[in-house]
Amino acid sequence: MSTSNKRAPVTHFHPISSPDYVPLEQLRELQSRRLAHMARRAYENVPLYRERMQAKGVTPDDIQSIDDISKLPFTMKCDLRDTYPYGLFASPLKDIVRLHASSGTTGKPIVVAYTKEDLSVWDEVVARALAGYGLTKNDIIQNSFGYGLFTGGLGLHGGIERLGALAVPVSGGNTERQILLMKDFGVTAISCTPSYFVHLIDKAQQMGLDIREFPLRVGIFGAEPWTEAMRAHMEDAAGIRAYNIYGLSEIVGPGVGSECWTQEGMHIFEDHFYPEIINPQTGETLPDGEEGELVLSTLSKEAMPMLRYRTRDITTIERDTCPCGRTIRRIRRISRRSDDMLIIRGVNVFPSQIETGILRVEGTLPHFQILLTRSGGLDQMEVRVEVNADVLGDTIASIEGFKQKVAQSIENIIGLHIRVTPVTPHTLKRSEGKINRVVDLRNEGK
Ligand code: AMP
Ligand code: ZN
Repeated sequence: MSTSNKRAPVTHFHPISSPDYVPLEQLRELQSRRLAHMARRAYENVPLYRERMQAKGVTPDDIQSIDDISKLPFTMKCDLRDTYPYGLFASPLKDIVRLHASSGTTGKPIVVAYTKEDLSVWDEVVARALAGYGLTKNDIIQNSFGYGLFTGGLGLHGGIERLGALAVPVSGGNTERQILLMKDFGVTAISCTPSYFVHLIDKAQQMGLDIREFPLRVGIFGAEPWTEAMRAHMEDAAGIRAYNIYGLSEIVGPGVGSECWTQEGMHIFEDHFYPEIINPQTGETLPDGEEGELVLSTLSKEAMPMLRYRTRDITTIERDTCPCGRTIRRIRRISRRSDDMLIIRGVNVFPSQIETGILRVEGTLPHFQILLTRSGGLDQMEVRVEVNADVLGDTIASIEGFKQKVAQSIENIIGLHIRVTPVTPHTLKRSEGKINRVVDLRNEGK
């Protein structure tokens, strides 16, 4: 079968819901109403927001229109950590029906919450994303994002069911089985991290199978940055069209934004999540078309409103309207972050967490380097760490035992098993300015 036959037709798809196409004036009016309500809800129910707004001399009465958004204070990841676990909730626990969690900058995760209505909005935006790829109730969608506290699995799942498509909730891992199920069930679309899909392609080849011959025609990829080169590789090797989906737990999870058939930027579902771009150094708002840090505000979230959340993701809001006809704006693909967060196999990892894990083991020194590579499509992480010679011992067993101890200590914090290489003191290069502990060679190959 030729790859081109299987590609989703490049046409206008029937929107399952109209907010993507409403006239701009109507959209701004809706956003204004929702923001005024959100600011009041946050002010009245969350002490942190009330204190921040008071410190800026702002009351909910000052927020009448979407243009007033710049009067509101920013929210940051550390605010979620400092109010851990329930301090930012604007609903009583009895009205909250789901929690998810994601990595914070230190040992504790950040916690996010949803009411029934919040889950319904989440399902709706994911379903709108899927409809934008031309998927319908006739599709069979294998969801290989991890189910659990991570928002990927359950987030996609809800949207698939809302669309009325058939969900195959395989979650992550067990790659051979994933490939067999994909083939046997006649799966037409898959959702997972792009790096996992590259791994899946390699594994299928090893098994003597050609995914291009499967009915699969759409890939839904997100949770980590990827490139046009990756898109070309995946589309070619699997005979699919590969679409980018964006999101973050603090706002809702996947489905904050998503590509349409043009594959040129991700539409933000801005009737629910309002985007701004700021200069990350000064906090000043930048006009559409300029690159900076993406700031998002939830406009309808009940359980955990987010006012001007600094995502640390660097992008640009497109100035032009999209040929697809949607009026909601688009952001360019996220190329990098303004902090040092790494995304390894879809898991957020901060170098500070590695440092904590290392230093919990006796005999380690605070000099380490993180080496990232990619093999068979999967991210590999190695940590080189300086160690006092006397704790290592001189037998193979004692050295192996030490490596395991450090690896386990890091795994306890980040949840990933990584390779540890002890090195003698003063081997690693010392920094002469701002330290950069990360050597990222993941995009050197494909
Ligand atoms: P989490 O809250 O654990 O889902 O992580 C959210 C972060 O993952 C975002 O702030 C981004 O840095 C990253 N991310 C999610 N989706 C994408 C995407 N499609 N492209 C690039 N980065 C992404
Ligand atoms: Zn579009």
